[in-house]
Amino acid sequence: MLESDKELLESVLKRRFFFVPSFDIYGGVSGFYDYGPPGCALQANIIDLWRKHFILEENMLEVDCSILTPHEVLKTSGHVDKFSDWMTKDFKTGEMFRVDHLIEQTLNNRIVAEESSTSVAPKDKNLKQLNHSIPLDGDIIRKYKEVLNKLDGYSGDELAKLMEVFEIVNPTTGGKLQSPMEFNLMFETSIGPSSQMKGFLRPETAQGQFLNFNKLLEFNNGKIPFASASIGKSFRNEISPRAGLLRVREFLMAEIEYYVDPQDKSHKKFKDVQNCKLSLLSRDIQERASAVPVRMTLGDAVNSKIIDNQTLAYFMARIYHFLISIGIDNSKLRFRQHMANEMAHYATDCWDAEILTSYGWIECVGCADRSAYDLTVHAKRTKEKLIVRQTLENPVNVSIWDIDFKSGNFYKKLRKQSALVKDHLTSLSQSSLKELSLKLELEGSIQLHVDDIENDIELTNDDIKIVNETKTIHVREYIPNVIEPSFGIGRIIYALIEHCFWRRQEDEARAVFSFPAKIAPSRVLVVPLSSNKELVPMTNLTTSLLKKCKISFKVDDSSVSIGRRYARNDELGTPFAITIDFESKKDETVTLRERDSKLQVRGSIESIVNAIDSIINDELSWKDATKNLTKFEIQNTEN
Ligand code: AMP
Repeated sequence: MLESDKELLESVLKRRFFFVPSFDIYGGVSGFYDYGPPGCALQANIIDLWRKHFILEENMLEVDCSILTPHEVLKTSGHVDKFSDWMTKDFKTGEMFRVDHLIEQTLNNRIVAEESSTSVAPKDKNLKQLNHSIPLDGDIIRKYKEVLNKLDGYSGDELAKLMEVFEIVNPTTGGKLQSPMEFNLMFETSIGPSSQMKGFLRPETAQGQFLNFNKLLEFNNGKIPFASASIGKSFRNEISPRAGLLRVREFLMAEIEYYVDPQDKSHKKFKDVQNCKLSLLSRDIQERASAVPVRMTLGDAVNSKIIDNQTLAYFMARIYHFLISIGIDNSKLRFRQHMANEMAHYATDCWDAEILTSYGWIECVGCADRSAYDLTVHAKRTKEKLIVRQTLENPVNVSIWDIDFKSGNFYKKLRKQSALVKDHLTSLSQSSLKELSLKLELEGSIQLHVDDIENDIELTNDDIKIVNETKTIHVREYIPNVIEPSFGIGRIIYALIEHCFWRRQEDEARAVFSFPAKIAPSRVLVVPLSSNKELVPMTNLTTSLLKKCKISFKVDDSSVSIGRRYARNDELGTPFAITIDFESKKDETVTLRERDSKLQVRGSIESIVNAIDSIINDELSWKDATKNLTKFEIQNTEN
């Protein structure tokens, strides 16, 4: 996007109150935004479509869970220990930076400065100095690109090394920076007056869904696969939010948790999407330091194991169709696979829907296979079984490792600790039990590290027996795996705003947002040609019909020229204008103007409202919806 376009875009967004910094008259706090009327309406329409596209279409079970979450829950999920970013501080100024973003910005700037020829003087002082000191030959640029591709997954030590090797400094002052420090992104608070219960504002909606798994499964009559979904605010204390709506500290998320049998991740509707072609930036491509995705059908991607399973691929297709349907530009959308070092340790595969904006490629939707991790850890902590019970049509004989606690000295020896140790042992997997049994046989004893017991516990052959038995199983019990599409609504809204923005060729100052009619903040502008009282009954008739059809509208009966009134609403992305003139009074006809083409047609109020209704509901195109209406010659009304 050109700098001048960005300036106009930003001024329109502010002037028309799409969104503005929160607490503005107090000077604002970065990372917080308030949505004004058009921003709110856009968000509400996108959420409405999201509900229809996902929840309704896939029969998902929606829940709305508490935002404030006790420490214990987020400790168990791993967020207390691991939900952090690396930050660094300028020794002199105290300015904070997120380390991976700083490295990214610095390396990208150096590459751009080098590629756009040495004759162009780099803008900032620091770049000049670095360009001077580092000759960027092909090898260095390749190294930069390799690092950029892996940047999301480096440890603190690795980031420190990169800062040293690449001479990363404060980009504005050139000042020296401290070694990376870990910073947990959750906002902490205390619950209740005693301040003894620690809690956090949730960083994602997912955990609330997992904690309700048993109730959801019961609601679904014990059947799997099924999905839960939740739309709500999440909070992350971002280190240095600088990219408008794209990186904020409070944002709306829409998340789906799809529970699936770990032994069967096929999807019954995969055949409907297998020919859908997506731009895929696989792990392999990124490892070759390339950023050029391949276009591939999802069928091929699953068959060649680029995408791990059908269910993950199915949701990637659904995400793609949703984004395209709301107006995201197909050529600015790609799916990037997480590198092995970037994925959470429990995830088996993860793809981000990334959208190209003036800030670069931005992750707007994550789609991850979280395996059985979350349900397993919560079950272990709470002792609540979070499992699916599947009655087998044909009972099967299986060999099972079982523990005999009774015949030995187990209870006598461990006394008060026996319950904790027993819980620990019974929660172990079959393969771990097999291992322990072998150890007992070979070495005569085993050492156990049990949560909440300080010292390791030693057990011998005299205390327990781990035996292999053949059992007939009638019911299979398993912890489902979870495929999670996770949407950041603010990021999607901002990307959409950029993609839909353009200027009229005949008048550079006139900005237009080409939002699809079904999500535009307001669908119709009603404009009486003059404020003459004679036009009021027709205006009222029009608005009451629009209300009856549940079509949102705004009346502009101000005295400014009709062209100005159209232009003001192009800036809000209003797709249609109904103009009421003196003819309308005589024959009850009105004109309908389409925002992008400025084409106008004329017809009865009913026929015009019907045409609008069918376009908004995606039933007809403008051409088909207006084919029986009379073309209307524009009488220079646009100026
Ligand atoms: P994650 O759980 O980190 O994969 O995030 C899921 C989605 O939330 C991302 O795809 C983004 O769309 C959105 N998101 C994450 N962090 C932020 C943020 N700081 N500001 C706005 N949106 C965010």
